[in-house]
Amino acid sequence: MTHDWRARLSELANDRRLQAITLVAAVVATAAAAAPVHTPDGPRAAIFTAVERAVAPAVQPVEMELVWQGADVDGDGAPDFANPTGNEPREHDAYGSGQFGASRDGGVRRHEGVDFIATAGQTVVAPISGYITKIGYAYAGDGNLKFVEISNPALKLEARAFYVDPDVEVGQTVRVGQPIGEVRSLQRKYPGGMTDHVHLELIDRRGRRIDATNVITASYQPKSDFSAAD
Ligand SMILES: [Zn+2]
Repeated sequence: MTHDWRARLSELANDRRLQAITLVAAVVATAAAAAPVHTPDGPRAAIFTAVERAVAPAVQPVEMELVWQGADVDGDGAPDFANPTGNEPREHDAYGSGQFGASRDGGVRRHEGVDFIATAGQTVVAPISGYITKIGYAYAGDGNLKFVEISNPALKLEARAFYVDPDVEVGQTVRVGQPIGEVRSLQRKYPGGMTDHVHLELIDRRGRRIDATNVITASYQPKSDFSAAD
């Protein structure tokens, strides 16, 4: 049986993380130095086997997932912010970029929030803890698209989550991460290429808008193996 170890190595190098690649390089060097050791399959097979054996534990398919974290700004050990949809911010589409400060109306104004990609109908969670202080309309004359405003006097912050069909009421207290409603489709308002999303504005005590991606960040982490009973 002949092993195409070159192909296998390049496959490994392409697929795996830097750690594994470095390990492969080290093992190949070691195995090459020891190449005169002949196994029944010859030196190439010996190298392949050495690589395979050394790398196998490191490259067990570890499934990684993007996990969102909220900053802990009051220092109580718990996150004070949550990603309202659990998805990444909207990249450039037919209607521009969903990033904070992106140009709008040909540069006349700037995007005052961050657009977190969503699927119409999905659950929206509270981006901060606080009281529901307003449920308003995103656009005058459009009763379909609403925003939910949450005020947090301790953090001296307000959050407005737009394009939400709310299942909370003014005066109600919500905790960060708690469901507050469902995402509304934007396809009728913005036909032809708008990515459905929740537009999130964070407003400080002076009324200035803050870039939500400063306090809602993501990193790749090994996928947890918890499987829910249902
Ligand atoms: Zn937006």
